[in-house]
Amino acid sequence: MQARHLLFCLLAGAALVACNREPAATDASTPAPAPAPAADAQAEAHTFSDDINAGDFAELVKTLASDEFEGRGPGTPGGEKSVEYIKAQFERIGLQPGNHGAWFQDVPMTETTADESTALRFDVGGKAETLEFGDDMVIGTRSGEKEVKVQDSPLVFVGYGVDAPEQGWNDYAGVDVKGKTVVILVNDPGFHANDASLFEGKRMTYYGRWVYKFEEAARKGAKAALIIHDTAGASYGWDVVRGSWSGAQYDLRAADDPAPRLPAQGWITGEAAKALFADAGLDLDEMYKAANKRGFKAVPMKATVSFDLKSTISEKSSRNVIGVLPGTERPDEAVVYMAHWDHLGKHDGEEGDNIYNGAVDNATGVAGIIEVAQKFARTTPAPKRSLVFVAVTLEESGLLGSQYYVAHPAFPLDKTVGVINIDAMGVYGKSRDLVVVGKGNSELEDLLKAQTDRQGRTLEEESTPESGFYFRSDHFNFAKAGVPALYTESGEDLVEGGRAAGEAAAKDYNANRYHKPGDEYSDSWKLDGVVEDLQALYGVGRVLVDGDQWPNWYEGNAFRAARDKMMAGNNDQSHVGGKQETQAAGD
Ligand SMILES: [Zn+2]
Repeated sequence: MQARHLLFCLLAGAALVACNREPAATDASTPAPAPAPAADAQAEAHTFSDDINAGDFAELVKTLASDEFEGRGPGTPGGEKSVEYIKAQFERIGLQPGNHGAWFQDVPMTETTADESTALRFDVGGKAETLEFGDDMVIGTRSGEKEVKVQDSPLVFVGYGVDAPEQGWNDYAGVDVKGKTVVILVNDPGFHANDASLFEGKRMTYYGRWVYKFEEAARKGAKAALIIHDTAGASYGWDVVRGSWSGAQYDLRAADDPAPRLPAQGWITGEAAKALFADAGLDLDEMYKAANKRGFKAVPMKATVSFDLKSTISEKSSRNVIGVLPGTERPDEAVVYMAHWDHLGKHDGEEGDNIYNGAVDNATGVAGIIEVAQKFARTTPAPKRSLVFVAVTLEESGLLGSQYYVAHPAFPLDKTVGVINIDAMGVYGKSRDLVVVGKGNSELEDLLKAQTDRQGRTLEEESTPESGFYFRSDHFNFAKAGVPALYTESGEDLVEGGRAAGEAAAKDYNANRYHKPGDEYSDSWKLDGVVEDLQALYGVGRVLVDGDQWPNWYEGNAFRAARDKMMAGNNDQSHVGGKQETQAAGD
């Protein structure tokens, strides 16, 4: 379901980090569905079976997506009800508290709202130019500082702002950007040059994501970074950038995030950049061409920027729920199943049904990991490695719950074998395929393929690999840290009705349910496809917890160096297929 869910995000211009980040659209013309029946009575009446089961799955979704849970908004009574319910399910199954003896993990966060009267004032060869917030640029800080003042910071054009040792590519080579403001192109050279020999051609790599570019600029000591927007490269228009960067922005507190942060970061429009470059004696089109070539050298611009960025800051918190099933032989090694529990809550003041129940997004994912947990707990022999089940919060606010978990993991990351993330499952019946988002990343896919082969299904790539959806859900935080992470979507080729039926179901979901009050549980859902998907994901974890494999990222993948580095001390670990891991970090 996620491909359609994600494709919709792309078309509708939803979010940048999580596709779900933007405020939900409301559709007054959609008739309000009947309210879900009271959850408590049903929960008491239901008897759970030992195996992955459509009836159990439906019961869990029905409860989590009921009006009583008020759309599971973090920091609301419905949100509290949600984490308590998930904890109760973990207890019922027989999991143990997973966060060093506790069921919950507090996730403190900072809410930052930039003052939109902020302007960027450039001095370009003695000529003054001003870019206004909204129409020309957006800017913000993740530093937690109420005021960031930048005075006459020199501009440096750093191409794509990429330092990728495994690609033999460094846009920062030979240039010192400390205290300066870097100007960066979005996406990566392979995309704009349309050259399959550069990076991964049209398919977006991690280096193409704006998140990466700001982090790299921070590592290099820049004062500020400005990304030049282009619609093709970003895969969305300026309206999306503008919408996503206006209003409240959510982050972990700077103190809880080990990665360095820039004092200020933002985007400027392509038109503004073109004029700015021209005044500095540079042709932006030529700069694109130069940046696409191997050996590109950063260009100091005859320009400086000054601004005074004021922000309103407040601190809040929400909770992850963590359960563990300890392994019998190697309890210190863990496989993680993850799903975000949060959704958009209840929107007071909206006419009609104002509860964003989030049944598909993502009560299905939470129900999925509970079903998988139950199967592991009830199946003999007991797993040799530990299993961790994490229901993360604040996905809709920018993947914060998973980011916090990775910074404060229940099991060390070099003891974490791999991660399987579920975000929105397809409820339209069995499909002939299963989709891997970001296919071609890690050896976890080989394990999954063995499962889908057995089911007589195919493993497919998502429909728009150039959009970089692999980098837009919770598992991405694990990937960035180096832990192999698998993210699947239900297939689109339905057994009943084929691709036409799959596409029609997707269209209906996107038009009437996605991020709307209409995302509710329905008795008409066909859940045999969900069961099959969960069995495949269970199968991957089963192989991992019964064996001693350490799947890695495929050779040449951007995340592999981080994994190799963290695993360098352990020489008893083998890849899928039993090949001994003997390489040291950095090779
Ligand atoms: Zn979601």
